[in-house]
Amino acid sequence: MTGGGGPSGSRPDEHAPVTPDWTCGSCGEEWPCATKRSRLLREFQVDRASLSVYLGSCLAAATQDLRSAPVSALQDRFIGWVPRSRRAY
Ligand SMILES: [Zn+2]
Repeated sequence: MTGGGGPSGSRPDEHAPVTPDWTCGSCGEEWPCATKRSRLLREFQVDRASLSVYLGSCLAAATQDLRSAPVSALQDRFIGWVPRSRRAY
């Protein structure tokens, strides 16, 4: 949205995932951290389907990276927090 200025790349408050550990690059929590989750909801509030697609691709990548983690736990972590809209279908 706003171009912010400065070099592109990771910003200190971007809360981007750090792979292959999938921790947050800004606060060190498991990604998506609470800050990132609320940002994603705001960013995708009119297009929840795209959010699901995006998180699904993150989950797929994380499943490759975090092979020791149970898939169900990863699903909860990446997708389970998204509020479901009952009117979506
Ligand atoms: Zn964070």
